Amino acid sequence: MNKQGATVRIVGAGPTGALLAILLNARDHTVELYESRPDPRGRAPESGRSINLALADRGIHALKAAGVFHDLENGLLPMRGRLIHHAEGGTSLQPYGQRPNELIYSISRHKLNQTLLDVAGRQPGVTVHFEHRLEAAEFTAATALIRDLRHDRQISVPMQPLLATDGAASAMRRCMSSRNLIEARETDLEHGYKELSIPADSAGRHRMVRDALHIWPRGSYMLIALPNEDGSFTATLFLSKHGAVSFEALTEPAAIEEFLSGNFPDVRALMPDCIAEFKDHPVGFLGTVSAHPWHYQGMTALIGDSAHAIVPFHGQGMNCCFEDCVEFDACMGLETSWEKVFAQFCALRKPNTDAIAAMALDNYLEMRERVADLKFQLQQELSLELERRHPQRFIPRYSMVMFHHEIPYETALERGAIQAQLLAELTAGRVSSLADIDFTRADIEVRARLTPVRA
Ligand SMILES: Cc1cc2nc3c(=O)[nH]c(=O)nc-3n(C[C@H](O)[C@H](O)[C@H](O)COP(=O)(O)OP(=O)(O)OC[C@H]3O[C@@H](n4cnc5c(N)ncnc54)[C@H](O)[C@@H]3O)c2cc1C
Repeated sequence: MNKQGATVRIVGAGPTGALLAILLNARDHTVELYESRPDPRGRAPESGRSINLALADRGIHALKAAGVFHDLENGLLPMRGRLIHHAEGGTSLQPYGQRPNELIYSISRHKLNQTLLDVAGRQPGVTVHFEHRLEAAEFTAATALIRDLRHDRQISVPMQPLLATDGAASAMRRCMSSRNLIEARETDLEHGYKELSIPADSAGRHRMVRDALHIWPRGSYMLIALPNEDGSFTATLFLSKHGAVSFEALTEPAAIEEFLSGNFPDVRALMPDCIAEFKDHPVGFLGTVSAHPWHYQGMTALIGDSAHAIVPFHGQGMNCCFEDCVEFDACMGLETSWEKVFAQFCALRKPNTDAIAAMALDNYLEMRERVADLKFQLQQELSLELERRHPQRFIPRYSMVMFHHEIPYETALERGAIQAQLLAELTAGRVSSLADIDFTRADIEVRARLTPVRA
């Protein structure tokens, strides 16, 4: 199927669908964008998804490539490191990077969605149909069945092509897999999450350090908090769904109070509504989606969370989806048919999305457990020192993922494993500070084991 001048249908106007619509329109495609929810512009945010998100270099790079970063810049709150709230009291800051631009940013999900939709809606060739839900696809007829929820009628649209950016619970992915056109697996994490709020003080100011991501690591669970523009923070509790200490077990106000006051005493005092919120707010599900291939012929392709949703512990889900959009755009520039674009996109991208899925799961352990460990903290310091000494060869894995869009996720995973081994060796035994490190040996090992990063 030739792609020249085609009308492209997109299902799902979340971050991926909206950004993709902008990029496709820039390539002179007419875009029909279908979204099951009502228009979020001019409405209060819906509850149920995280209120704010961490935006990092990969996401920023993609937003710049699409010409929309400028529209979002004002709403970004920089976070320069993890501020750890220790179980025994006290806090410590673990910087994310060591250069002035090595920051991540908190952004409101609602504002991000609104802005992307605003920009997409302003493009002459983009039409957004809200309250239109994809229900089914008929692959032999190459049509998708979409329900117009306002008029309760079904419409049929041609898949020539149709891009499915309908998120982790993608209806299109489930349709494709139920007909054995692709293989798909959804793996739920045993942990869920719940959001709680830390309001601003009476003068509208943040009640904790504003330019940090706060973490209360507590072993098998953790609380985190990201700043919002209005002086509040949104805290997220990640906890097992079932078991002795779990969302299932915490139903009575007294038990909730004991859990929160006992584990997070410093922040409990800053969350006046947390008991009511704990009871009222839903437990969000977390999981990983793996699918292959991501497309069927030249008819339809999965992009973003619909193809590869990941757990949120690296703060990369949306960043990765934005990177998808620019990679898909690059494939469009190279290939002549939709089938080739889809196949090329999937071949190039899947090793990288598999890699970030693995790193996101690994980062859960890091955030809830390892960050409080002294050996881990020493290894973090050593990583930064080795990066200073060998900036082309040793870049901490976290930095490769968060600050270096030019380094593919797959490379970050591979190099990260070599680096982790090296750090473990250099800090083995009774090594407790940088002064104990044998840097002559470290320098030799770095040069021997790590080639310069291709930039
Ligand atoms: C708790 C939590 C915290 C997170 N934190 C971060 C973070 O800090 N940084 C980060 O980068 N990522 C984060 N993520 C991940 C991020 O939210 C997702 O990766 C991102 O939202 C995926 O975008 P998407 O557009 O592909 O899917 P979605 O955001 O899910 O959007 C899909 C859209 O499709 C619509 N839709 C669904 N079904 C249909 C249908 N049948 N028909 C029509 N429309 C449909 C939906 O209404 C929605 O608008 C987090 C996720 C969670 C759960």
